Amino acid sequence: MNPAKFLLLFPFLVFIPFLTIGQEISYYDLNTSSQDLKNFFLSSNEYFSGGTDDLPYFQGKIDNKYIKFYNSTGVIAIIDFKDKNQYLELVRQIQENAFFQYKVCTDPNSNITYNYRTALGNAFRFNFNEMRISLEFPSEINNLLDKHSYLQKGFVCISEDAYAFHTNIQCEGLGNCTSDIAKTNLREAKNYGYKYCEICTDDSYSKQLLKESLGYYDNSNHSNYQISDIDLTFVKKYESEYMFQEICETEPLKSDLKRQFGAELYDKFINYIAVQGPLEINNNKALLSSCMAHACGIYMSSLFINFGNNTYYAGLLNDEEVYVISNNINFNSQDWSTFPDEFAEWTRDALKDANSNK
Ligand SMILES: [Zn+2]
Repeated sequence: MNPAKFLLLFPFLVFIPFLTIGQEISYYDLNTSSQDLKNFFLSSNEYFSGGTDDLPYFQGKIDNKYIKFYNSTGVIAIIDFKDKNQYLELVRQIQENAFFQYKVCTDPNSNITYNYRTALGNAFRFNFNEMRISLEFPSEINNLLDKHSYLQKGFVCISEDAYAFHTNIQCEGLGNCTSDIAKTNLREAKNYGYKYCEICTDDSYSKQLLKESLGYYDNSNHSNYQISDIDLTFVKKYESEYMFQEICETEPLKSDLKRQFGAELYDKFINYIAVQGPLEINNNKALLSSCMAHACGIYMSSLFINFGNNTYYAGLLNDEEVYVISNNINFNSQDWSTFPDEFAEWTRDALKDANSNK
């Protein structure tokens, strides 16, 4: 599978960096027993509730998120989100804290389910095609089924050099198979010397994609990164001039913007610089903002520089999406207190525009 196609599997990966609705549930709220989770919702006055004591349902008063409990081999809670950011943020937390098991898909035309498990034995499942996360709690039957996981269904390529047992029929590893593909189970596959496919049991790609989309920092990227390396004083010589684009295409800023935005967003960032004012420096700080001609409120770029500590903050409004980055290691796109006032103001306006562009 090529990356472009993979992206299509993530229709919700359109990103806005802030959770504007104050009714999130976190991984920690869910990493508990089914009874404790029911009690959590029952004791919160943020949810309407109904159903029975055994199988209740809840609806968020603010965000309309819907949680319903079912009985299967164990208790299952299905959470249907109305807010994309809440959904993606919870997926991110699951990816961060639980153990990935495998991607599961048995029908080439259906969605690939991502299976995570916590130390408590809670099983999280989601695909990136609907805003739904299911949480299955451990039970005696589930434990028994786990012990018999060798009955797990999967696929192998019937060829001498094939060695992988795939849980995802859409796996690119299987895509290379030039002979027949057989449906089997883990025990049988193991008997023939097959081992779990490394691609089917690895979720690092969507993890990375989601992290980038949510605008989170991977702090490890900063381990060899000196903020002082970016000397922004060169910008000062453009005072009173209309040089926003030139500034962003000058090193060392250019490479750093590109590294943080990624090449594609960087190109947009540059393209959206058209309608602009001159560079004004006040109190050793400057805010440059611009929009595409005839498309203000749709395509905009901004750059805030604090010459005092050589930090910059860059923002991009791309229709319904807003992206923010900074070379300040203390910057956190989820925390307004880490935004300089001028840049926070730009970002808030951009978020309003993004919302009205929907
Ligand atoms: Zn595979």
